[in-house]
Amino acid sequence: MKKLLTFLLLAFTASLFAQNLTDDDLENIVCKEAEAHDHFFQPPLVANPLTDNYDLKYYRFEWYIDPAYYFIEGKATVYFETLADNFSEINFDFSSQLAIDSIRYHGQDVASTADGNYLLSVQLPAALPAGALDSLTIAYSGAPPSSGFGSFIQSEHNGIPSLWTLSEPYGSQDWWPCKNGLDDKIDSIDIIITTPSAYRAASNGSLVQEAAVGSDKIYHWKHRYPIAPYLVAIGVTNYAQYTDNVPLSNGTNLPMLNYVYPENLPDAQIGTGNLVQVLQFYDSLFVTYPFFEEKYGHAQFGWGGGMEHQTMSFVTSYGWSLLSHELAHQWFGDMVTCGSWEDIWLNEGFATYLEGLTRERFPSQVQTQWYDWKLSKINSVISQPGGSVLVDDTTSVNRIFSGRLSYSKGAYLLQMLRWKLGSDDFFGGLRNYLNERQFDYAKTPSLQAHLEAKSGQDLTEYFQDWFAGQGFPSYQVVWEQSSAGTVYLQLNQTTSHPSVGFFEMPVPVLLKGFGVDSLVRLEHTQNGELFSVDIPFTVNSAQFDPDLWLLSANNTVQEGELVATRDVFAEGNLFLFPNPASDWVQVFFENSKFQGELNWHIVNALGQETKAGSLERDGRTIDISTLSPGLYRLVLADRNGETTVRSFVKK
Ligand SMILES: [Zn+2]
Repeated sequence: MKKLLTFLLLAFTASLFAQNLTDDDLENIVCKEAEAHDHFFQPPLVANPLTDNYDLKYYRFEWYIDPAYYFIEGKATVYFETLADNFSEINFDFSSQLAIDSIRYHGQDVASTADGNYLLSVQLPAALPAGALDSLTIAYSGAPPSSGFGSFIQSEHNGIPSLWTLSEPYGSQDWWPCKNGLDDKIDSIDIIITTPSAYRAASNGSLVQEAAVGSDKIYHWKHRYPIAPYLVAIGVTNYAQYTDNVPLSNGTNLPMLNYVYPENLPDAQIGTGNLVQVLQFYDSLFVTYPFFEEKYGHAQFGWGGGMEHQTMSFVTSYGWSLLSHELAHQWFGDMVTCGSWEDIWLNEGFATYLEGLTRERFPSQVQTQWYDWKLSKINSVISQPGGSVLVDDTTSVNRIFSGRLSYSKGAYLLQMLRWKLGSDDFFGGLRNYLNERQFDYAKTPSLQAHLEAKSGQDLTEYFQDWFAGQGFPSYQVVWEQSSAGTVYLQLNQTTSHPSVGFFEMPVPVLLKGFGVDSLVRLEHTQNGELFSVDIPFTVNSAQFDPDLWLLSANNTVQEGELVATRDVFAEGNLFLFPNPASDWVQVFFENSKFQGELNWHIVNALGQETKAGSLERDGRTIDISTLSPGLYRLVLADRNGETTVRSFVKK
């Protein structure tokens, strides 16, 4: 889902008007502004445990829709499998504002009760055992309530009636009897809509019948992939239709079927034509387009943005950003669906990031380039010091769909994982995640496990800091080049929110000389840590993270004096850093000759050994956090048994 508010942008700045308004690069202004416009009634949000005792297998929806009227009439036939014995009542989440016309079960009418605003309980004449496959048909009618972003809307375009649904996150129960949670996908559905013949009806899956019946037409959509309830959708108006063809990586030819407002047909054809290459890009970068046996497509609606309804995204316009975002959801959101609204970034962070990747992949075809796109996401996140990607209040639709956190910061978590793991392991881990969770739900630990398995890296701390924690780091870099050529860099960071004391990250710094430069990657594990890198040219300046791999702000870089004195030692010029030291001290050698290990002892002022160990060539940090404050001597023995002693102060 993606919100656009072009009319507000229009009001804000005339200059934006001249640009392509549907290329929504200012998503987060937009999302923030959208909050003021959410005025729909909000239903109760608690997942309903009364629906846990059965598994949804199949729905056949048969509806009569005239888009000139705010009304739905029809029936839902449900096939289910019982998961518990003594199953004598089946419960659905369903608005009590709709009238139950009948409930048929094994050819007879059965009774039901409505409890509260959203519970429909159907009493079965005899209890079923666990494992029973059964079905019933609920006929109903009425004017549904509309929640969230407008779960059931009747409107018009160009003077023509238009009706659409947008159920995410909690609105399915407003217009059909369902399980409203994120734990049971329906294995397959048929949607059969009868509408006056002036209109077309859009929905999920393949159109298997379009037939005239008197003054009406019947549209039969058949979908044979598992689907989350919030992704079931219909749109009805006087659509014009056309199809783009998309050759996929598996050799099949996918129809991209577009139902568009006739007055927007030229724009739509340009936009969906451009999207063909984006679909091929995702299809080759991740896994085959998930619903390749049916279709992809678009149906236009009047809500100010887009919604990734399975196999047919509903969109208000045809810009690159919106179309590539909704398309990305077919993999991240539809095939693999967030298993909790706390984890909505698994839908929205991914869709946002994939849209960004199209800017990296197709630079000549986009207005906003990849670098500027990244900068805009960073600026969105750092506009406030706190906020987690983990949704800490799922009762708030605006919090779930926070443009700053679920979209921009979520996308940046992925950008940083790509930097941390490398592109091969990052994309490989994502492919494994998609394959293992396909047509199911997933939560953040599942993604973490796949990225860890692929890369061999432990990402526990990463997800604690970046997913559950709040804020972002600011880095202070001081660098110095010694006469021998070695460049020392000291890296400090402050954090914007107390929930994270330190972000442990690989940090990129570009060292620039005359006509030459070198990007160094500093594995930052301690605040104030000193790094040494051998650079074969004279460094004139340094630049922090030139490619915007990291989410950070207010970074500083300066040249300074880091190493006051160096002592001559057989293994190379030696110094300790820092000195005085608090929790750790680093041992550095310039012109280092030693290989293998170097043994060390720490001796206190009384001459007692307090600590001992050995240093690897690259493991130069000694933990001194347990030492009492005072003066110590570090005794180092080289491979020939020669020793040298250096003093340091523990603060
Ligand atoms: Zn989205």
